[in-house]
Amino acid sequence: MRFAQSSLGATRSCPHCRTTILQSSTTCPACRHVLRISAAKVPSKPLASMEPLRLEATVRQPEGGGGCEYCLTVVVTSDRGEELTRQVISVGSLRPAEARTFAVVVEAFSAEAVQGRPLLEEPAAGLAGS
Ligand SMILES: [Zn+2]
Repeated sequence: MRFAQSSLGATRSCPHCRTTILQSSTTCPACRHVLRISAAKVPSKPLASMEPLRLEATVRQPEGGGGCEYCLTVVVTSDRGEELTRQVISVGSLRPAEARTFAVVVEAFSAEAVQGRPLLEEPAAGLAGS
């Protein structure tokens, strides 16, 4: 079975936080707001997803240390080595004995599941703003 590839990876802006999200998302992964969808088209099953990657690490400063600064940057690179996205997610500092846990999660949605997804009522805000 073939699927139209044109809608795969289509994006829109979250109406709540303006983060660029997948058109097929029913919940914003950034602000976690549930996005309005057409009631007549709500699927009976939730969108099947895979979590092909989850990295989690804790940076802890020793009790007697001098603290540190941190910068969490996420880089997405294509299989040809092209940098597709580079984003600084958070910067901050840690005092002695403080810790921060950093988690990076990549969710993937099969083309089959995305094609069966209902359309959002609100049109993509694409070129508006920022
Ligand atoms: Zn949002």
